[in-house]
Amino acid sequence: MRPSQIVVPDTEGLSQAVTLLKGDKVCAFPTETVYGLGANALSAAAISAVYQLKGRPSWNPLIVHARNADMARSLAATWPDEAAELAQRFWPGPLTLVVERAAHVPAHVSAGSPTVAIRVPAHPVAQALLEACELPLAAPSANRSEGLSPTSAEHVVRSLPEVPLVLDGGRCRLGLESTVVDVSCGTPRLLRPGALAVADIRAAVGVLDVPGHGSAHPEAVRSPGMSKRHYAPRARIVLVADFDKPTLQQLRSPLGILTYHPSDAAVADPDTRVEILPADPQGFGAELYAALHRLDECGVSTIAVLAPPAGEGWLAVRDRFDRAAA
Ligand code: AMP
Ligand code: MG
Repeated sequence: MRPSQIVVPDTEGLSQAVTLLKGDKVCAFPTETVYGLGANALSAAAISAVYQLKGRPSWNPLIVHARNADMARSLAATWPDEAAELAQRFWPGPLTLVVERAAHVPAHVSAGSPTVAIRVPAHPVAQALLEACELPLAAPSANRSEGLSPTSAEHVVRSLPEVPLVLDGGRCRLGLESTVVDVSCGTPRLLRPGALAVADIRAAVGVLDVPGHGSAHPEAVRSPGMSKRHYAPRARIVLVADFDKPTLQQLRSPLGILTYHPSDAAVADPDTRVEILPADPQGFGAELYAALHRLDECGVSTIAVLAPPAGEGWLAVRDRFDRAAA
């Protein structure tokens, strides 16, 4: 049965959402990346409600969603040329910019940082909601902290059964979180790889600092949420180079396999659940969370993943596996 909190984003659904948001309550909505758990970004009480429902640690800052670049700019103390250039080129879309926070934006939304992360989402339901409520919305992914991000309304309710309302926008088109770029101090710097390719950003602004992967401290401080296990299913994730017999024998069943080689299905025994995803990084990323949700639901204890290829195009996918396996 369909959970009762899931509503169609028509005039009536949007008006229920607006009532919640204006009353400092939360409400989940679709974006082109993943579903967000939204709250009035200008209200410390509403922001607290997001942290509480997710069980999110108070040091992990939220991304603020704005209706357009003008609203985004009003939340920033300064708007560097790089922000203007990237906003003009990629908004609305899956790019989050970290800029200096304006004084009227509660520090709570940024976990006390003098910066704030902002994005203008492209999804028509997210746009309609931002327009109807006339507020900037702080919205992290609508899942329990550290869990898998939701790419459907049903995923949201399964992870957060207490959520008062989810606007149903169907499956998220991109399926991976936004790319986060810090433009608050000089050369733009990648803080989190995501749905927007690094190559596209570099082509737009000429330079992009991409810190070494897995390098601990300086990056962890600049982007607090990146330092830990995250995006993880219940099952244990193991990356493998291929699915030969010795490898399969070492893995604990019930086993799930996640791969982008259709021929890998042949090696699995009948009890093994196999998910075959597209072999290009965008297609793979779009299906990734839905496939992990399905494997988790059928109760596998190990998910063996064919290690994604090297190369910058697969950066975001590799990042999610590294942290899911942490
Ligand atoms: P999400 O969990 O998808 O909402 O992503 C939020 C992530 O964006 C955080 O975990 C950080 O990695 C990054 N982020 C948000 N705000 C800031 C900020 N002010 N400075 C640096 N990184 C940020
Ligand atoms: Mg998240």
